[in-house]
Amino acid sequence: MQCLLATETQTTDFAALLHKIYLLDDLNNVALNYDPMQKYLVLILTCMTFINTQCRQQSATTHKPDTLATEVAQQAFNQYAAYKEPAIRNRRFKPEDIVPLLQQLKQNPLYEVEVAGKSVEDRDIYLVKAGTGKTKVMLWSQMHGDESTATMALFDLFNFLQQSDELDTIRQQILQNTTLYMVPMLNPDGAAQFKRRNAFEIDLNRDALRLQSPEARLLKSLRDSLNPEFGFNLHDQSRYYTVGSTSKPATISFLAPAFDYAQTVDTVRGRAMRTIVGMNEALQQLAPGHVAKYSDEHEPRAFGDNIQKWGTSVILIESGGYKNDPEKQYIRQLNFASIVSALYLIAKEDYEKYQLEDYYKIPENERNLFDLVLRKVQYQEEGQTILLDVGIIRDEVDALKAPQGFYYRSSVQEIGDMSVFYGYEEINVEDLTLVPGKVYEQPFKSIDQLTAARARKLLADGYTTVRVEKLPAASANPLDLPLNVTSKSAKVNHNLRMSGGANFVLKEADGQVRYAIVNGFVYDLQDDKPALFHGIKL
Ligand SMILES: [Zn+2]
Repeated sequence: MQCLLATETQTTDFAALLHKIYLLDDLNNVALNYDPMQKYLVLILTCMTFINTQCRQQSATTHKPDTLATEVAQQAFNQYAAYKEPAIRNRRFKPEDIVPLLQQLKQNPLYEVEVAGKSVEDRDIYLVKAGTGKTKVMLWSQMHGDESTATMALFDLFNFLQQSDELDTIRQQILQNTTLYMVPMLNPDGAAQFKRRNAFEIDLNRDALRLQSPEARLLKSLRDSLNPEFGFNLHDQSRYYTVGSTSKPATISFLAPAFDYAQTVDTVRGRAMRTIVGMNEALQQLAPGHVAKYSDEHEPRAFGDNIQKWGTSVILIESGGYKNDPEKQYIRQLNFASIVSALYLIAKEDYEKYQLEDYYKIPENERNLFDLVLRKVQYQEEGQTILLDVGIIRDEVDALKAPQGFYYRSSVQEIGDMSVFYGYEEINVEDLTLVPGKVYEQPFKSIDQLTAARARKLLADGYTTVRVEKLPAASANPLDLPLNVTSKSAKVNHNLRMSGGANFVLKEADGQVRYAIVNGFVYDLQDDKPALFHGIKL
């Protein structure tokens, strides 16, 4: 009842109103013929109506929720090390990596763990239940097999819920007021290969109507049989998305999916929108300016849109990118804190206190980022010197032998005026000239001949690629070498062009090479070789 603490203006308004009642009463006393009791009742009723109106006005404009959602997120974030599941350390874990963790959960009476269904390739899909509260909440992750950030966060959540520490009040609120149904990897076949689609090559998020995949049928049947009030649809999005037109990556984007093209807001969608406003507020203190909203456009085949239509308030969480977090472990932490704060809001029904219009104030996703932007380089083309910005994207390529299961293959994806775009890494190279990397024609016997010092000398001389007599095997990528290698006879051209490789040197006016750019990585030759810098077999 914060609204009883009326402001000075309101007190004055109230006094004026009372005064009016008495004046009116004086004038009409005889005509209305009130007895003292009636007069008293009229006065009480008028006062109550006034207070009620003031309360409603205040809650619609200035009332701040008295919830501790922001504090909950902060505490969950601060204590995160105690909950982080240590068995999962990078994004490309496999279905078989989570099975022992789920078997372990079974030992704890807090959890009911069951195999709820099977994938196309007969892998188990698990359902974990916790809590005894009246509000049912369903959370499903990794419907797209290569979107694993929230799966990691769900395992952290399992650890959080079963521990006992100073956050007990929070977890008890959640466990006593909600019942959680969690599917921590809906598409295990996709996850096994770290690819988006399932084993039918169907995008499960376009199969909500036809239900041709067993994974999609499972999600639909769980939704229909449990009929949860809330659903969390947990995904990853491109790391190149920004918060509106800012330079900040959209590290977390939210959406209350629209169930029709008109983007109608009914009670069900409204609840999701209000919860998102609370989650946004909580996240803003942890990662200021890094929260965006996914496009509200309706997609009739998607699960989020349909589950919203079927009566469950759906909240989409998309984990994007963050500088120097390729394995998304910081993003996982944000995801965890955000889910805990949302569950707390739902447990206390505090989402009701947030305003719908604040949902629309969250900036939308835009795609304005590149991995690397070279600003204002000079480039010689057709005998002319032109001023260019160059945007480079580092694509992930699967590689079993690589420590994290992939390597980078980079390409040029923008050339020209990039003043409206940003890079995770940017170098302003005004006055430097971009020259295509040269190929060292005299073949080396094998890459073993290339010491670090020799490789550095080659870069300083303008070479980004060497020829070798004995090419390494196809599985050699990424090369443990700051150069690309190619065969004795392969045709290689490192000229600057769209979708071409990013292999250049940037020269000072006196012709000295300042930066070598190999496979999209920057090596400042006045400095040590960066940790992340590898060539590839071309
Ligand atoms: Zn997705």
